[in-house]
Amino acid sequence: MFKFPNKSFLGLYVKNMDVRKKPAPKFFNSSHHRIDVGKISEGANFVIETLRSSGYDALLVGGCVRDLILQNVPNDFDVVTNAKPRDIIKIFGRKSRAIGRRFRLVHVRSNNEITEVSTFRKTPRSNKIKKKIHKQFKGDNEFGSIADDVFRRDFTINALYFDIEQKVVIDYVGGFCDLLERKLSCIGKPSERFEEDPMRILRAIRFATTLKLSMKDMNLAEFSRYGCMLDNLSSARLFYELEKLFLRGSATELFSRLVQLNLVQFLFPVLDRNKMESLAYNHSINTIKIALQITDSRVKMGQSATLAFLCAVILWGALKIEIEKLRCEITDESVIFRIATENIISNQIKTIAIPRRVSNIMREIWRIQSAFENPTKRNANRLLQNDRLRAGYNFFVLRSKTENHLIHAVDWWRNFFVLANKMNKLPFPESETYRL
Ligand code: ATP
Ligand code: MG
Repeated sequence: MFKFPNKSFLGLYVKNMDVRKKPAPKFFNSSHHRIDVGKISEGANFVIETLRSSGYDALLVGGCVRDLILQNVPNDFDVVTNAKPRDIIKIFGRKSRAIGRRFRLVHVRSNNEITEVSTFRKTPRSNKIKKKIHKQFKGDNEFGSIADDVFRRDFTINALYFDIEQKVVIDYVGGFCDLLERKLSCIGKPSERFEEDPMRILRAIRFATTLKLSMKDMNLAEFSRYGCMLDNLSSARLFYELEKLFLRGSATELFSRLVQLNLVQFLFPVLDRNKMESLAYNHSINTIKIALQITDSRVKMGQSATLAFLCAVILWGALKIEIEKLRCEITDESVIFRIATENIISNQIKTIAIPRRVSNIMREIWRIQSAFENPTKRNANRLLQNDRLRAGYNFFVLRSKTENHLIHAVDWWRNFFVLANKMNKLPFPESETYRL
């Protein structure tokens, strides 16, 4: 079990400590925090208790501790331990699975929940290793103690550990006070930590925006300069982060912040304001914001939201331009459409690895737009059989907010849906379609 030194350390916190000197941790007990242990998932409790009864240390770490302190519901629970991955697998047997290309982690399944378990790790010692790790951020697999583990984490607020048995928060870097002061601070020098792993730039924006933290220790003017570093990230990691940015209920604010910090074109090269007419750029940004607002309210109401729909909206302006370009060379509209969608998607996936299951939906949403533009009974009956009818129609309604000539067609389809609904022909509740 984790041994706490002298109780007089409780709640003490030294400001401006030099993190390289590995200071002693500060401890915060339930007189300092209001963590409701009832919010900790069954899976995390099971993993921690099992590791402890096998003689290892096991603590909650990272975002879940941060969220518990803030009285928010954590998205997931991460456990850290001094057991090595192979020990963890021995203990949990078939319930566990080693994962991770970047780090060796273990996923432990209990009931329907997966808890991620990592072993205390050190930051790679030599700068040479750090330099090499860019694309995959590999190489950070040297095991260490909790005092080592803390310094490889990104922000002080993400470097808090929680002992569920003694209900104590363990803090080496001042994250507890930063949380109370609503401040986002890097562990170490921001420019070095961002260069080491540029994903931290997006994470910084996400945490500052969603948790309303000040970034005053960071030079925001530098952020657009950091943008080109995002190029060094694996496109699969970026897709995963995109889900966190856009599907957790704060997409509109986050997107605006990315635009404001001049970073959005590093994620979506088609949204480069230097390469677009300002009218077309503003048009695209406004349509995207409307889609994100709708997504946020759906997420907040517990309804489904997909990245396929959002990516279709984000790339739509570029697709239209591409189609126009190809019309100068090719006459067959279906060939034009196929080539244009391939060009746009293949260009985008160089940056963000949009999986095929997602890009197939995007293509279909785009493909059925021409049927919505031509409201006929024949098209309507055909679309009733289409799995993407609702997404395609909602996309069409969204387009009509900036493409005014579509408004009549939207009216036609609305009447059609009301009728189809009365006749029980609509495969989804009519209330789930967007309104003008
Ligand atoms: P959320 O789950 O809301 O995205 P989180 O902070 O829990 O937030 P995870 O991706 O679940 O994010 O990571 C768990 C913990 O791992 C983080 O809190 C942090 O301590 C550490 N971590 C994650 N990504 C990085 C990174 N790029 N650099 C350093 N530490 C990281
Ligand atoms: Mg997490």
